[in-house]
Amino acid sequence: MHIKNIITDQKRLFLRENVPKEYLIDPYLGNPKPVYALALPKNHDEVVGLIKWAIDKDLKIIVRGAGTGVAGAQFPIDGNELVIDLKLMDKIIDLDEETLTLTVEPGVLVGDIHEFVEDKGYFYPPDPASKHSTIGGNVATNAGGLRAVKYGTTRDYVRALKIALPTGETLDLGSSNIKSSSGYDLLNLFIGSEGTLGIITEIKLKLIPKPKENVSVIMSFEDVFKATDATLVLLKSGINPSEIELFEKEAAKYATEFLQYDLPTKKGNAYLLVELDGDDQKELELRLKTLLELMKPYALEIVSLLDEDKKQRVKKIRDNILIGLMEYTEYEMLDEVVPINK
Ligand SMILES: Cc1cc2nc3c(=O)[nH]c(=O)nc-3n(C[C@H](O)[C@H](O)[C@H](O)COP(=O)(O)OP(=O)(O)OC[C@H]3O[C@@H](n4cnc5c(N)ncnc54)[C@H](O)[C@@H]3O)c2cc1C
Repeated sequence: MHIKNIITDQKRLFLRENVPKEYLIDPYLGNPKPVYALALPKNHDEVVGLIKWAIDKDLKIIVRGAGTGVAGAQFPIDGNELVIDLKLMDKIIDLDEETLTLTVEPGVLVGDIHEFVEDKGYFYPPDPASKHSTIGGNVATNAGGLRAVKYGTTRDYVRALKIALPTGETLDLGSSNIKSSSGYDLLNLFIGSEGTLGIITEIKLKLIPKPKENVSVIMSFEDVFKATDATLVLLKSGINPSEIELFEKEAAKYATEFLQYDLPTKKGNAYLLVELDGDDQKELELRLKTLLELMKPYALEIVSLLDEDKKQRVKKIRDNILIGLMEYTEYEMLDEVVPINK
C-alpha cells in the first residue's frame, strides 16, 4: 500500500525534501538530516496504518508531540525515518464527572487541559513549565512541574492508555478504576518510555476537585545553601506546600531579560517561590503564618504575592528560565535530580 492511501489528505503528508525544516533541526546539534516522510495522522487507525507501512518499508519511526523536548528524542538521526506528528490528534473526548476521568487524544496541549478542567471546578495538577507541550509528550516523558512537590508527576494522573505498538497491534492498558492491584504494571512501563515502546493515541487522566484557595510568596536568600536549608525546614513543617521552586539570580536574569520585567525582590542570590493551597481560607492563613515564622531566620526578604497578576508574573519568570537560557546562552540543558538534602 502507498502512504498516500493511509493519509489521504495531502496537506497532512510530506515526502523527502518537502518535509519542513523544523522537523529536522535539533536545537543543540543543528545538522538537519533528511527523512523519508512526515505524516500527521488524525486518529488511531491512521497511526496503526502508518506503523504497518513503516514496517513494510523497513523505516524507523519517530513520534512527535509539540517538539518541546530538549533531549533530542523527537529528531531524526539517519534519514531512514518516518516522523509521525500527533499534533492534529487534539480532541478532548470525554469528561466523566462521576469517576473524575478526562479522556483526551495525545495532541491536546497541557495548558488547554488546565483551562478546560479548571473552568468546571476540577484540577489536573501536573504543571510542566512548557504549557504548550502535548499531553502525549508529557506522558511519554513523565513530566513533572511546579506542583510535583505535593501532587506528584504525570504518572500519578494517568488512569489508562491506548497504544499503537511497533507491530501495528493495539494495546489498551488501565481503566477508570481508582485502584488496580492485579497483574504486571504495564501502564507504568509505558509512562516515561519516550516513544520507544509504542505510540500513545488516547489517554484517560485522573482529575481531582480544584482547591478553592491558594497563596504564594517569593523569598530571597543570601545564597542557594540558605535557600535549600529553608526548603528542608518547610518540607518537615507539615504546612504541605503545593509548590516550592528554587532558582538562582544568575538563572532568573535570563528570564527577566527575556520577559522585560524584574522579580519583586532585589535582595540576595537565590529565591524560593512557595505556594500553599487548600479549601479553607482560615486554615490557609494559619499555614501562611507558620511559614512566615519559620522563614524569618533564613530569608532576607519575603514578598507575599496576594495580587493574582503579580503572582502570575513571578511564576512566568520561573517558567521562562529555560527559554531565557536557550535564548541568551550556549548552555546545554540537562535535568538533574538529587536527594533534597544534597
Ligand atoms: C520551556 C520548557 C520548560 C519545561 N519545564 C518542565 C518542567 O517544569 N517539568 C518537567 O518535567 N518538564 C519540563 N519540560 C520538559 C517537558 O516536560 C517536555 O518537553 C514535554 O513533556 C514534551 O512534550 P512534547 O509534546 O513537546 O513532546 P516532544 O518533545 O515532541 O517529544 C518528547 C518525547 O516524547 C515522545 N512522544 C511524544 N508524544 C508521544 C506519544 N503520543 N506517544 C509516544 N511517545 C510520544 C517523543 O518521541 C519524544 O521521545 C520543559 C520543557 C521546556 C521546553
